Amino acid sequence: MNEGIAVHWFRQDLRLEDNPALTAAVRHPRVLPVYILDDVNTKENPIGSASKWWLHHSLISLKDSLNGNLSFYKGNPLKILKQLIDAFAVSAVYWNRCYEPWRIERDAKIKISLKQQGIYTESHNASLLWEPWTIKKSDQTPYKVFTPFYRKGCLGSWPPRRPIPQPQKKEFIKDVKSSISINKLDLLPTVRWDRSIKPHWKVGELGAKKRFQTFIDQGLENYREGRNRPDKPFVSRLSPHIHFGEISPNQLWYSVKAMGKDPNIDHFCSELGWREFSYSQLYHYPDLPKKNLQTKFDPFPWVEDQVLLLAWQKGNTGVPMVDAGMRELWQTGFMHNRVRMITGSYLVKNLRLDWRHGERWFWDTLLDADLASNSASWQWVAGCGADAAPYFRIFNPITQGQKFDPCGNYIRKYIPEIKEIPNKYLHQPWEAPDSVLQTAGVILGESYPFPIVDLKRSRAAALQAFQSLKSKLN
Ligand code: FAD
Repeated sequence: MNEGIAVHWFRQDLRLEDNPALTAAVRHPRVLPVYILDDVNTKENPIGSASKWWLHHSLISLKDSLNGNLSFYKGNPLKILKQLIDAFAVSAVYWNRCYEPWRIERDAKIKISLKQQGIYTESHNASLLWEPWTIKKSDQTPYKVFTPFYRKGCLGSWPPRRPIPQPQKKEFIKDVKSSISINKLDLLPTVRWDRSIKPHWKVGELGAKKRFQTFIDQGLENYREGRNRPDKPFVSRLSPHIHFGEISPNQLWYSVKAMGKDPNIDHFCSELGWREFSYSQLYHYPDLPKKNLQTKFDPFPWVEDQVLLLAWQKGNTGVPMVDAGMRELWQTGFMHNRVRMITGSYLVKNLRLDWRHGERWFWDTLLDADLASNSASWQWVAGCGADAAPYFRIFNPITQGQKFDPCGNYIRKYIPEIKEIPNKYLHQPWEAPDSVLQTAGVILGESYPFPIVDLKRSRAAALQAFQSLKSKLN
């Protein structure tokens, strides 16, 4: 069974350590590691621009780790795998599983087709602590509330798989004839908006490890409380590394658990649990990215307004905490979780724009854009998802800012044009007396916008819209 050449098909597992499918593949005398950019099955949901940038750099890093032995292809994976099977007399194909509905469907077809051709295939779980189909309630239905999902479902089942070391034997080969160059994958943007993003990240397996170590040194001991503070270095910022599989949740889980019993560690693990919960939702409800999980939201009277949407996307709403978040996203490809909730709530409740507009923008601009976490989180923010924040609970971006960015450091970093406004007015510059604005060198409507909607009135309108929805249902 382990004779001949094996293909290891890299996908969302761009690492050598704790890579179960790669470890299985190296039982063969020689392994051909490949990456296939699938531009056929992704037509409906193409990879976002920021993700493409990350992927490009992550593949370069992986290729270096493999001493150059990584071959690249673009097109239909089944067709390409069949060509490789013929060209190299491949006897087996290995991969780690992905959980997007379109990938599950595609991979099932590939498995059947290769098996029919007499090719051995083997797939593993390398990106989730628990397989989504294994965590179910006693009546075999999926959990819809996080706490029982995590405590009873996940923690109550068997422990996650222990991480495995990098394979020692390295008989990796390259397809010198038909592999294309990485630049031919066309992952880098033509307009170089990525220049501001680059300095913030060290992409690749080594970068992931360094980022994790920095978090252990600077963030973990304050994580439980500090994770809500966008002005502090208390969160890990590991999400893009995790999304592309440069580090596995199993590596994180067992590394922090080995450090002892601590509420910060438990909380960090429970956030990994939220990721599992998102994957569980996507697995059981494949329409999660497009359709309200709670169908009672289907007739909700969303507003359609491109001007409002553009102001939100560009961080020009006139509400500093919202704008700082949207500019952090644009400048770094990342946004702190607390601020994702604030900007999300503002979009769907104050601007009353459909959550799918927010989901699409995040999909294109987040380096960690992840179909499961992004759509589950947007549905959570909009109130139509599983275990969601009720629609009538509307975040106030002013008090949120005062609470979680009390000294205004986060706002000042991303909106330098208002940095001289004293803390008292920083979260609501429109309330500042003219003399204060003048001293700060701010002319509202010129150097920084007036609020594009009135927060109190838009809040009341959102509640009214929600009431109208309820009366339609009664
Ligand atoms: P940490 O706090 O250090 O947490 C460690 C890891 O746990 C994260 O890297 C992530 O993998 C996971 N995690 C933490 N919080 C969550 C959460 N609420 N849901 C799911 N997983 C979580 N996360 C994504 O990875 N991709 C997305 O596309 C995404 N879109 C989001 C959209 C909205 C509107 C909101 C409110 C949240 C979204 N999240 C998304 C979840 C969360 O904001 C990020 O995972 C988190 O901010 C990443 O930062 P971190 O690595 O420092 O997290």
